[in-house]
Amino acid sequence: MQFITIANEGVKALSPYQAGKPIEELERELGIRNIVKLASNENPFGFPPSAKRAIENRLDDLTRYPDANGFELKATIAKKFALQANQITLGNGSNELIELFAHTFADSDDEIIYSQYAFIVYPLITKAINAVAREIPAKNWGHDLAGFLAAINDNTKLIYIANPNNPTGNFLTQAEISEFLARVPERVIVVLDEAYTEFTAPEERVDSFALVKQYPNLIVSRSLSKAYGLAGLRIGYAVSHPEIADLLNRVRQPFNCNALAQVAAIAVLNDDGFVQKAAQNNRTEMQRYEDFCRRHQLTYIPSKGNFITLDFKRPAAPIYEALLREGVIVRPIAGYGMPNHLRVSIGLPQENDKFFTALLKVLNQR
Ligand SMILES: *Cc1c(COP(=O)(O)O)cnc(C)c1O
Repeated sequence: MQFITIANEGVKALSPYQAGKPIEELERELGIRNIVKLASNENPFGFPPSAKRAIENRLDDLTRYPDANGFELKATIAKKFALQANQITLGNGSNELIELFAHTFADSDDEIIYSQYAFIVYPLITKAINAVAREIPAKNWGHDLAGFLAAINDNTKLIYIANPNNPTGNFLTQAEISEFLARVPERVIVVLDEAYTEFTAPEERVDSFALVKQYPNLIVSRSLSKAYGLAGLRIGYAVSHPEIADLLNRVRQPFNCNALAQVAAIAVLNDDGFVQKAAQNNRTEMQRYEDFCRRHQLTYIPSKGNFITLDFKRPAAPIYEALLREGVIVRPIAGYGMPNHLRVSIGLPQENDKFFTALLKVLNQR
């Protein structure tokens, strides 16, 4: 029996998600230490001490199921951002929410719009539910919103926009997003995936929760994996019209967010200092990456996230492999159709120095 023959039609077209290489794996393979991982856009300051304390206080009470409604976490998010708790949906990472939106709104044969080079989870879920993917060619590596509007038809159910986008770092302004929303019919759900919004300077950030008030078909998703440093715990949240939150809540598995993730998220959402430190480091270090690229005539895509994508103008796989031998893990993105690029997460100053040194050595060897 070839089980792929009985998989749903969409699943037959899928290949597994390629995650960043774990440090332990490279240690085992090469027998080297002091590896720097700049591959998965994680927080370089490590796990927040406030979240660690919250988890320690909760450890003795893991026999019972977690709060299925995430009451306290939703209250914390609502208070922090001046929202109503009934607008909030919690997810096992925002990836789960991205899936939940598709399961809630799209049937097979409905159309889902997203950009070329957009976050890979959008094509993944679209294919998994056997919906029709409308992938709009990118403009300067970013979202072509006019192209999105032109692609909307009677079968369109969902539109995914990552802002900033991963893996390219492109950013759409408040004006661009709101002009777009004004032209999208209300029966089409627009998802604004803001996993990296905390890294964008406050004056540039999109006031997306205000847009949710203005456009009831808008869903904003946020992650605690990046600036908040909780990637290993898997927790994210969506903000929407309460009626949409109610629908999402019907599809969501009851205990999708574990108890430790919930208490850790509450702690770090109340710990502004931690996020600000990460954002500040990102700003100064991003500047150093841009300076480094300019100095060495390397092409990069300007990024508002906590990563930068370099264009080597030739296949980047050998450069990736050579960097591994120098103890630096970055992210190949050939799976996104970008075989000449590597995505590098912005790390601590000393990690970035190690990358700069390793890259120059690798490029000069060739
Ligand atoms: C990392 C990332 C996410 C989310 O991750 P979770 O860990 O599932 O919260 C969502 N969207 C984009 C564009 C990302 O890069």
